[in-house]
Order: sequence, then C-alpha cells, then structure tokens
Amino acid sequence: MKTMNIASIAFAFSVTTALAEGNIPQQNNDWFKAGEAEIQSKIAQQPITKPAKNIILLIADGNGVGTNYATRIFAGQQNGLYGDENVLPQEAFPNLGLVKTYNVNAQTPDSAGTGTAIHSGVKTKAGVLGVDETLNRGDCSQVEAAKVATIAEVLSDQGKSVGIISTARLTHATPASAYAHSADRDFENNSDLPEGCETPDIAVQLIDQMKSGVVDLALGGGRSQFLPKSAVDEEGKNGKRTDDRNLIDEATKSGVSYVGSGPAFSELDLKSDNPILGLFGSSHMQYEYDRTDEPSLAEMVKASITALQDNESGYFLTVEAGRVDHANHDGNAYRALTDGVAFAEAIAMADKLTSDQDTLIIVTADHGHTISFNGYCGRGTPIHGLCMGVDNDGVKHTDQIQTMNDGKPYSVIGYMNGPGSILKEDQNWEGFRPDLTQAQALDPDFIQQALLPRDSETHSGEDVAVYARGPWAHLLNGTVEQSYIFNVMNYAANAK
Ligand SMILES: [Zn+2]
Repeated sequence: MKTMNIASIAFAFSVTTALAEGNIPQQNNDWFKAGEAEIQSKIAQQPITKPAKNIILLIADGNGVGTNYATRIFAGQQNGLYGDENVLPQEAFPNLGLVKTYNVNAQTPDSAGTGTAIHSGVKTKAGVLGVDETLNRGDCSQVEAAKVATIAEVLSDQGKSVGIISTARLTHATPASAYAHSADRDFENNSDLPEGCETPDIAVQLIDQMKSGVVDLALGGGRSQFLPKSAVDEEGKNGKRTDDRNLIDEATKSGVSYVGSGPAFSELDLKSDNPILGLFGSSHMQYEYDRTDEPSLAEMVKASITALQDNESGYFLTVEAGRVDHANHDGNAYRALTDGVAFAEAIAMADKLTSDQDTLIIVTADHGHTISFNGYCGRGTPIHGLCMGVDNDGVKHTDQIQTMNDGKPYSVIGYMNGPGSILKEDQNWEGFRPDLTQAQALDPDFIQQALLPRDSETHSGEDVAVYARGPWAHLLNGTVEQSYIFNVMNYAANAK
C-alpha cells in the first residue's frame, strides 16, 4: 500500500463513496437480504418479564455442540436438504448461551454432578445426586447434612405440579437429580446400597416423592429397579430388588395411576387427579431407531403437558433424552442422531403446546462427548457416512470418497476414543484402518472410527449450549456456570 499510485487511490475513493451511500454490490444477494431481515427480527424482540407460570427444561444427555451440529445436518438430510441449512427447533429460540459443565472435582463431568448443578443450583462432585460438595461419593452418613433442594421441590412447594420424563431409567443420574438425594448415582435399588446406608435407594425416593405430592408425573424406563427379584415384568425380566418390595404395587395402592409398555399409554386418563407413573422398559427405554411398543419422547411430552396444565399455579416439567449419551458412548452416530431428532421433535411439541408469554422453555445438554468432525467434505455428504469431496464448479459434493495420507477413506464423524478405535488389540495395539465403503458407513449399526481404544467412549469437558424462550429467557446468555440455570428458573418462576 505504501506504493499506491494516484489511479488506485482514485478507484478506492470512488468505491468507498458508493459504499458509504449504501450501494454495496451484494445488496440483492439472498444471504445479504436474509441477514437484513434477521436484524429487523432481532430488533423487534422484546424480553418477556412476566413470571414464568410454567417451566419446561429439556436436556439431551451428552448432546454437546458437536452432536447438536450433527443432528441439525442429519435431520435436514432426512428431509432431502444438504443438511447445513436446516434449523432445529431450539435453534429458532431467541436466546442462547454457553454453559461450563465441569464438576467441582472433575474437569470432565458426569451426569449426576451436572444434573445436580442444573436442578439444584450447586456444582458438586461427580457421581452424587442432590447434595453439595461436602459429601464424599458413596458416604451415606453425609447425605442429610449435604442435602440441597431441587427446583422440583422448590416449585412444588409453591404449588406447581411437577413432571419428570426420561428415555433412560427414571433412576438414572439425570432424572434422579431432579428428585433424589443420594451419595452415589449407582444406588438405584436397595441391592446397590452399601451395608449400613440409611438413605433410601433412588427408586424408593421417587415413589416417596410421588406419595408426598412433590412429583405428580414420572415417565421413563427402569421398571426392574421398582420390582422384587421374584417379580417378572411384561418383558419377562426379573426385578432387581432384594427387599421384597414391589414399589409399583405400593404406588398404585397409594393412588398413583401406573402404566407399562404397550397400548395402555394412549388410553391413560390424563385428566384424573391421580399422580401418574409410566415405566416403559425394564432398563432404559429403546433407542428411537429400535423403538417398538413404547411412546416416543414427543408423545410423552404431549401427555405430560396435557396432564399437568390444569394446575392454575402452573407446572415444572423436566425432560431427558437420555440415550443420545448412550449411543455416543457406543460410538454409534446413527442412533445418537436419530435420538437427537426425537429430542428435536419433543422440543417442537413443547413449543407448540405452550405460549412464550407464560412458559419458559430451556433446552440444554448436561455435558459433551469426544465427537469431532473430519474435513474437507462437500455439501450434502451424509453426516454419518464417509467424507466426499468439495465440488469447485457446483454446490453438491463430488461423489468422490476422500482419503487420508494412508489412502483410506474416513467417516465425517469420529471420536477421540471409544469402541471404534483404530488401535486394535489383535494387532498388538497397532493402528489398523479398513477400506470402508459408503454402504458400510451408512449402516445404522456402523461404529464410527475413534482414535484411542476404550470400551465405552468418554464424555468431554467442553461447553454445551443452552437455548431458551419465554419469560426471563434473556437471562440465559453469555458463558455461564451450569448451576446458573437453576437460578434463572427460580427467578423466572418468582418474578413479580
Ligand atoms: Zn454418559
């Protein structure tokens, strides 16, 4: 620029003058026009500062920004798009923040510590539920002293109805963090408790919370945690309890309406005043891809809103898409993404059935995974398949499978560790990469390639997103501690 001559100065001046007058050459470009429209829509947005009569919290376990990105593309491709241009329901919400997910003693968090942060507003140790960090994992004697109140207990005390939904076992870490106080997430039934532990197991705590009126509705898996070993459930599986208690019988005797797998769910009387317990699997509910004879997450959300919405004081509903996490642990992107789409459908259902004038909807994840994305892939490359090249002369990919330096193709999605490791035990832990075909990679059972060998892929400690709409949703922005989500729910419910 030091040697800029008179002619180029004159050229730069004329362009600058034209630009200053608003004559920019791309002003009729669709991207530019969409950006202008977005500015107007953001200017028109007004924060909603009424009290939140209802709060719906939707957590997809393990659905970090990476898995959310892949779900966006996967859902779009299922609808015939390239994928990237797709917008998930939560991505249309006006407010977004990033959430720091660590536990007080873990850079990489677990779902008990993160669930407690979200539901109770305190960060705590990995593996514990509804207690603060003074408790050492597994020490039942500290539970009473370390107990904190969950948002379900707080809002129930204020007269709101409470619903809990999970596609995992209802006694699993994330749903349990909404109602239980336990020294260890693994104390799901009495046989898991250490000798001398006087804190009830997690299944008993759920039934106690239903009997005492804190929890009005609970839908999910985990039936065997509620049944004695002598009992056989509708899947032919034995219960796990060794104290001879049949908690389902106990619940129904105290006036809880119980529903199991099969058509009974659609016939359930949602308008009765009885609390509702639905247990749809001996253990976790099925993955969406494998689902038969069980309600979808969206169907459970719809039923719950129908059942809870008659309370004039409103309701709190916490919803977990629990199995996005499990499929990621298995390195199986297809099931993670189909469960991610089912989660998106549940969000759309909650959004459709409620008004942003009285219902705060918060969508987040408890933690991320080691999922990552290879390049350079052209538009429309199947997100769960092999990477195909960028077409310099067009938009859609070249149909040419891309290779790395070893001459072998690779999937778009990979994990830093997991069962799909390229280091194989039968190869003396040396690297081995097969010559994959696109058809193999697109099989729903395909295990994505991973770097390091581990039976179960791990969580990661990176931030997750929080999306929100409704009263006080604008308080969820910036980079926040996970425990802050509780504060926002508590504030929104009590705003004058
Ligand atoms: Zn997990």
